[in-house]
Amino acid sequence: MRHVHIHVTGIVQGVGMRPFVYREAMAYSICGWVLNAGDGVHVEAHASGAALDSFVAALSEHAPAAARVERIDVADLEPGAWDTADEQGFRIVASQDQTAHTTLISPDIATCDDCLRELFDPDDRRFHYPFINCTNCGPRFTIIRSLPYDRAATSMDCFPMCPACATEYANPLDRRFHAQPDACFDCGPHITWREAARGVELGNSGATPAVGDTREASDAIIERCVELLAAGGIVAIKGLGGFHLACNAANEQAVTELRRRKRRSNKPLAVMVRSLADAECLCHVDDAERDLLAGSIRPIVLLRRRGAGEGDFSDALELAPSVARDLPELGVMLPYTPLQHLLLAAAETHGMHALIMTSGNLSEEPIETDDDLAWKHLVAAGIADALLGNDRAILSRYDDSVVRVVDGAVMPVRRARGYAPQPLPLPALAGAAPCVLACGPQQKATIALTREDTNAASTCFVSQHIGDVENGATFDAWNAARTRLEDLFDL
Ligand SMILES: [Zn+2]
Ligand SMILES: [Zn+2]
Repeated sequence: MRHVHIHVTGIVQGVGMRPFVYREAMAYSICGWVLNAGDGVHVEAHASGAALDSFVAALSEHAPAAARVERIDVADLEPGAWDTADEQGFRIVASQDQTAHTTLISPDIATCDDCLRELFDPDDRRFHYPFINCTNCGPRFTIIRSLPYDRAATSMDCFPMCPACATEYANPLDRRFHAQPDACFDCGPHITWREAARGVELGNSGATPAVGDTREASDAIIERCVELLAAGGIVAIKGLGGFHLACNAANEQAVTELRRRKRRSNKPLAVMVRSLADAECLCHVDDAERDLLAGSIRPIVLLRRRGAGEGDFSDALELAPSVARDLPELGVMLPYTPLQHLLLAAAETHGMHALIMTSGNLSEEPIETDDDLAWKHLVAAGIADALLGNDRAILSRYDDSVVRVVDGAVMPVRRARGYAPQPLPLPALAGAAPCVLACGPQQKATIALTREDTNAASTCFVSQHIGDVENGATFDAWNAARTRLEDLFDL
């Protein structure tokens, strides 16, 4: 019998690491416990040497898809340094806060296939629930207030779980075991709807929004949103890291109007389509691009457009000329939230196969994240005709990432949702400065902060894309991003 302490570091929180450790412990008959702390995942394990070796190997070899295990340190425990009760069975213990917040957080992850199946399964209790998620997918960095990553430290803390969700959350064999944003229509966030126009059926023109607190009410909001888009309207839609401005990408009048209202005269606009097949109707897509479009990050991918009459492709996916006028490339993304999947599915029933999904802001200002401010700045200000919001707060502002594939490699054009704040490794800074703050440039600004690590290397945290630093609102966003990085990673 051996008794060891195992410390796992890397991206190990918010990725289903503890349930994974639990299942592996069961498989190898390991006794002890696992817990999340500010500096990673800690495991105490009691088993035969051979079982322990297999268990430790499995921790890195079979880690969940979204995890990135960087180090596993195994240390023998001193005799008497453990509770003999822990030699019976395996358990997950409550998270421990420690002063050193050195663990990494997973970025937000696109809706997984299992959740997608449930989302469109009429027999599932989360059928059409716009916030469905599990340990393998859902919001992460955009809802985290502090580490360690637990529900109480997220903007989900104001949604107490219903008995059904609480049972899943507590069952180590359930795929929502310790999924922090776990929720359903009965206990979780709901979408809301407000329209600028008067005399409309749903909601009213102002303070009191319609709330999608039942499946029927939620479906009605999505249907109304899609009707408005099909009629040429512009809707502000709350996403993971901020609001989008959406309109029908095939409607030239709507796209021109969006440009006029947003004061964005010629920059290209990104489109969201429902499937890879739809993306391929618009653009050439190679294997690397296909993986990016349909993967777990789902950035906007800049693709080469198909020329007129190039190949045998349906003209059902004709885009308005002013989406990306005369440019050889088009920015395309696939839905990455349950709400976007529902919207695109509903849009299809109205004959719409592509929606413009551009950042919900006035040109050069930061993307809006708060429902009331978005109402004021986007709807009351006359940019959008309606607002599709929700009651889950966005704690960090994230634009969609934009990437391009060059010679098979991913080149980030705008590194934000899904990528930031994953750190970049740096050579040791030779103790010259324990923490360096790097700022700039003026356009497409980001912030970088370094941290000296114990293994004589340095880690560089690069913030999400903040924008062009040319007004007070962007400076405030810059400060907020810097403070969040300093707080989360103890910099
Ligand atoms: Zn999922
Ligand atoms: Zn629930």
